[in-house]
Amino acid sequence: MHSDLWVEEKFEDFLGLKFKVEKVLFSGKSDFQTVDVVQTKGHGKMLLNDGLIMVTERDEFAYHDMISHVPLFVHPNPKNVLIIGGGDGGTAREVLRHGGVEKCTMVEIDGMVVDACKAHIPQTAKDLDHPKLNLIIGDGVAYVKECIRENREKFDVIIVDSTDPIGPAQPLFGEEFYRDVYTCLSDDGIVVSQGESSWYAMEIQQSLLQVLNAVFEQSYLYSFSNLTYPGGLWSFTFATKKYHPVKDFDPQRVAGSGLEFDYYNADLHSAAFALPNFVKKGLAGLISND
Ligand code: SAM
Repeated sequence: MHSDLWVEEKFEDFLGLKFKVEKVLFSGKSDFQTVDVVQTKGHGKMLLNDGLIMVTERDEFAYHDMISHVPLFVHPNPKNVLIIGGGDGGTAREVLRHGGVEKCTMVEIDGMVVDACKAHIPQTAKDLDHPKLNLIIGDGVAYVKECIRENREKFDVIIVDSTDPIGPAQPLFGEEFYRDVYTCLSDDGIVVSQGESSWYAMEIQQSLLQVLNAVFEQSYLYSFSNLTYPGGLWSFTFATKKYHPVKDFDPQRVAGSGLEFDYYNADLHSAAFALPNFVKKGLAGLISND
């Protein structure tokens, strides 16, 4: 029998990205979103939340390398890491490869995402039972407030691996959340966040950088290339109390770590912070001066 099933992610009302589907592996509806895992023809297994592509097996390494290794190789001694979101497990997998990380806490709001990825996408979810991982199913916004109220531990690096600023992820792009993140970070802490597309969502990047500038000593944007998010070029923000993302980066640490990566390397680390002119213009005044 001929099957012609495709999944299409629509961006506003003028762009659609289509992927050929061979099999639907999981479909559910949680309290927060729809969660689907499909086997695609060209991109391996794919996770979609509310019909938006979160990860595919083919290119997830680009996103997870860049969201994790950039801050972890800038901070000189990251021992305690907090991930907010990241339910597919790819960010935790990469963070836990750093031998110096003693503890990684991950706060994902949606248990269905975690369970679906454990069952169907072990490539990203394989370390979600790692002994150094403290996996909490809960709201990241409430979690950082709790940390402050109860005067708990400080984090060296916080990674906000979130969906787009809709639904429960909306406050993850706001000033109140970042003031709490600032308080939860150690004196030389770094926060890296999913920073959307310079092609299609520069207004979100502007607004997020405005928030970060209001709270942090320095704020930057860095980019990477991927196959599945609209426009291909995608970004993370890097906000820091102390360390410059390039000047305080020692490339020798990457070589000395013994870790191997499919996307990240020391040259790319610095290059990722060099922005195209249309991005520089769009974000003028919002990226810290050197
Ligand atoms: N790489 C992905 C992307 O950019 O599309 C993000 C992946 S990860 C699956 C995003 C996760 O953030 C989702 O599973 C979602 O449930 C979670 N999330 C959204 N809002 C959250 C919140 N307030 N607290 C914790 N997790 C949240």
